[in-house]
Amino acid sequence: MSPTPTQRPTPPSCRVWLRRRCLVLSMVVLSLALTMVTTRSAWAWGRMGHRVAGQLAESRLTPVARRSVQELLEPGETLADASLWADEQKREIPESAPWHYVNVPITETGYNPRFCPDTGCVVSKIPEFQRTLADTTAGRAERARALRFLTHFVQDLHQPVHVGDNRDRGGNDLQLQYFGKGTNLHRIWDFEMLERGELKLSTLYGQVSALVTPERSEQWSSGSAIEWANESFVLAQKAYRAPGDGRLLRAGDKLGQAYEDTFLVVARERIARSGVRLAWLLNGTLK
Ligand SMILES: [Zn+2]
Repeated sequence: MSPTPTQRPTPPSCRVWLRRRCLVLSMVVLSLALTMVTTRSAWAWGRMGHRVAGQLAESRLTPVARRSVQELLEPGETLADASLWADEQKREIPESAPWHYVNVPITETGYNPRFCPDTGCVVSKIPEFQRTLADTTAGRAERARALRFLTHFVQDLHQPVHVGDNRDRGGNDLQLQYFGKGTNLHRIWDFEMLERGELKLSTLYGQVSALVTPERSEQWSSGSAIEWANESFVLAQKAYRAPGDGRLLRAGDKLGQAYEDTFLVVARERIARSGVRLAWLLNGTLK
């Protein structure tokens, strides 16, 4: 009896082809799964937050620092553009993924080097890339890379849940509702609070730069990556709590106006501080 069309045995060459396709498909699925496991969040501050911080920093550069930045970056590339580069490299430079944050348990009293793995974290990478940027004997490409990483990491360090953690990858695993929409704590801080209501980039820039008074800018232009991490840490301890009764947030909690009223101004101020501080670092480094 001849086999019916559905029972027809697959010719050997076709079987090989199918096996290859299956292998390729499983590799794609595996690498996607790995990316999901290792990527802490898609963007850290959203693209808008990073751009605003970069633009603010650029507006505060001394003429000398501005010229050096222009020489290092590509023609037409602004510091706002450069702010996004590190998030786009997580696949090309996989070892850089853990450099965007440090996990300090919110039950601790603050940052301690033991929370920074030997392979580096956001606190150790800032001074490291600053040294490379300052080294005029290093090649242009190496210094440009250092500038892009430094720019991004100063911004990430100011995002409270890039420092504070409650065994949930900085709130990535803490599922919440925000204004009726399912999300997680990390996303709320990365962009959902800052960008709610289809906010324009220019509006966010205006809100953030309005916070930079001469007194604040003088006060903010100081400190180290460790001190800035500790500021973020204290804020993260608060960010993990419900406004009002102050209890720790639990999966499924519904956040909205009260949370925004408490923390939106904090998020904007963190962006403002990171812009002022990046300019301060670059002005001091590129003399
Ligand atoms: Zn990042």
